[in-house]
Amino acid sequence: MVGSRNLYELVENLRVCTSIFVGSSLPTIYYGARTHTQIKQVVKEFKRTSYCGMVKMTLLSSRDKSCIKEFDRSVWSTRNDMCRACVKPIRKGPNKENTNCKFYDNRTALNHGCMPAAFDLEDLVEIGREKEACPYYGARAMAKTAHIVFCPYNYLIDPSIRSSLSIDLTGAVVIIDEAHNIEGICRDVASVDITQLQIQNAIKELETVSQYRFANQDVEYYIDGLLNTLNSWNYWYETIFNNLRGAFGTFTNIKLQKARFQNQTPLINQQPVNNNEAVYKWQQTADFVDTLNNHNIGYVQYADFKRNAESFCRRLREDASTLYGVTQATGTLLEAMDMALGFLFREHCQYMDDFKPALVKHVAGRTSAPPANTGWRASQFNDWVSKESLTLSLICLNSGIVMRALQSARCIALASGTLTPLISLHSELETSFPHRVSPNHVIPEDRVWIGTLLGDATGDICYNATGVNSPRARQALGAAILRVCRLTPHGVLCFLPSYSLLDRLIKEWQETGLWHELNQLKNVFCERRSDRDHEETMNDFYQTVGTPKGALLFAVYRGKVSEGMDFKDQQARAVICVGVPYPNLFDTGVSAKMQYNDKYIKEKNLLTGKEWLRVQAYRALNQAVGRCVRHRGDWGAVLLVDSRYRQEYYTEHLSKWVKRFLGNNHHTYESLATSPNGLAAFMQKMKIVEEEESLKT
Ligand code: SF4
Repeated sequence: MVGSRNLYELVENLRVCTSIFVGSSLPTIYYGARTHTQIKQVVKEFKRTSYCGMVKMTLLSSRDKSCIKEFDRSVWSTRNDMCRACVKPIRKGPNKENTNCKFYDNRTALNHGCMPAAFDLEDLVEIGREKEACPYYGARAMAKTAHIVFCPYNYLIDPSIRSSLSIDLTGAVVIIDEAHNIEGICRDVASVDITQLQIQNAIKELETVSQYRFANQDVEYYIDGLLNTLNSWNYWYETIFNNLRGAFGTFTNIKLQKARFQNQTPLINQQPVNNNEAVYKWQQTADFVDTLNNHNIGYVQYADFKRNAESFCRRLREDASTLYGVTQATGTLLEAMDMALGFLFREHCQYMDDFKPALVKHVAGRTSAPPANTGWRASQFNDWVSKESLTLSLICLNSGIVMRALQSARCIALASGTLTPLISLHSELETSFPHRVSPNHVIPEDRVWIGTLLGDATGDICYNATGVNSPRARQALGAAILRVCRLTPHGVLCFLPSYSLLDRLIKEWQETGLWHELNQLKNVFCERRSDRDHEETMNDFYQTVGTPKGALLFAVYRGKVSEGMDFKDQQARAVICVGVPYPNLFDTGVSAKMQYNDKYIKEKNLLTGKEWLRVQAYRALNQAVGRCVRHRGDWGAVLLVDSRYRQEYYTEHLSKWVKRFLGNNHHTYESLATSPNGLAAFMQKMKIVEEEESLKT
């Protein structure tokens, strides 16, 4: 007898083999975008092509986005936990498939036959509700026979998601849209943060299930194995917490120990505290690997850990009810540890320098007063601390190790309006891109104004980290934003380097009255950090931006607004970009990456750390600039605010179209309004053009 799953695989294999013989094998196309909103736009475009209806499509999403079963927060911590507990067959007998989720039982009712030729997530969920069939599992089943699979791009890049969704990219065509952040995404995927609390929670859950009786002895074996490993990790944290030197283990060769660690500050308790965090970095990754080896959680033990973690996670995915009490958080932790340690130890630890290990002690204080940013002595600090936690960060510095796993695909296409600057993409990703296309912008030259604001009549103003501390710079910025809002109809976006600067400016402008003036001119909004608040803010912005008063939206580089949101027509007639958004040099990952690049500049053909930093700054800047003028009939202005744009070094990595339109259009506060090439002249011209165009239509 052949089970239905085996039969399916047999038919699939035959289909593939047959198509190879007749030379007509069609690769599956995987199309990854950043968010479901972007996938929705792509599906809309797909609908307009002649392929729509000729090929089958599906889209993958998380249970959070597509589960239609009622979610009881008092019972389950996540939808994943609820689902895994629900989909286990509950009755043996004629109808073996019955589970605690009727939508799962009816999942096959969602299939290519009943779906429209092109559908987005909302359509999928709506049809799932109509048919009382699970959209999550229905879409996954459709992926097996689909020609095009749309999904968030991390499903394609992250090996653990690929494995849990059974995505095999061998021979496939992989398209990654909005790929300007691909280097960072790859590094993030391979990086892991492990807190002691996570380890302790996982131990508690595993201790509970270790009491169960399992028909299969292997299960007990791998649960015991995992418990041993996690207890060793917990002990390692304890040792470090008390005294980091102890964590270096019991070297028999004291001389070697001294030589290896003599230049390191031994205690994390002695690290300076910045923003409630003390960070301890191992100078050499080899020293960190030694500590793991000496605590029996290192290279030698990794193979056993991997086997146990994989078996456990497979059971958690496929038969979760036998592990009742184990949450998704434990599964995710084990998978993340397995992946990061696997990369760290690969090929006998030859490439361990691709990672920077760091210990971060997070603290919460007894009073509401935070510790000073720098220079906290241990005595003051210890008095203040009420709660502390320890996180091990394994920061991946080489995107190539994740990208390499995608190379079984037939072809990989990276697409973005702002891949520029391209110079380091192939070496960072360790992937060659024989075909590169960099077309011109579709917008006619006379519909775009790009200029700089270098300062005012009294001189240049620079908005680097030191420059923004000057009261003159902050006042001048306020005046410039006010002027742009006066000159520009409807929507204005203003991008700032950080939330802290935004908060500081608002506070100051409220005192000077400038904030009130801005609010009289425009409806003013600020980007919010949380997803829910952000959605609310954006709804309010979109509702008011089309009114005669219009709207001004403050946002930060690399935030939700600057990355991939569409502001067309009236939604953004002007974009103000303040400063050059270099990444934070005090960030452990950023400084480690710069050192890594400097070390491997020749061997891996990388940019220097300084140049890499510059490339990151311009990717973020180009993203923000690209929020307006979104289609051929659109128009808008971009104002780059910083005196550094006077130098070619600071315009070199701007997008090709921005550089072309910018030319030498440099301004002062005064000339923005008075020069024939100024912003005021452009806005007046476009007002006339708009009136003429509205008469024609
Ligand atoms: S099977 Fe589908 S509908 Fe049922 S709980 Fe899981 S995700 Fe939700």
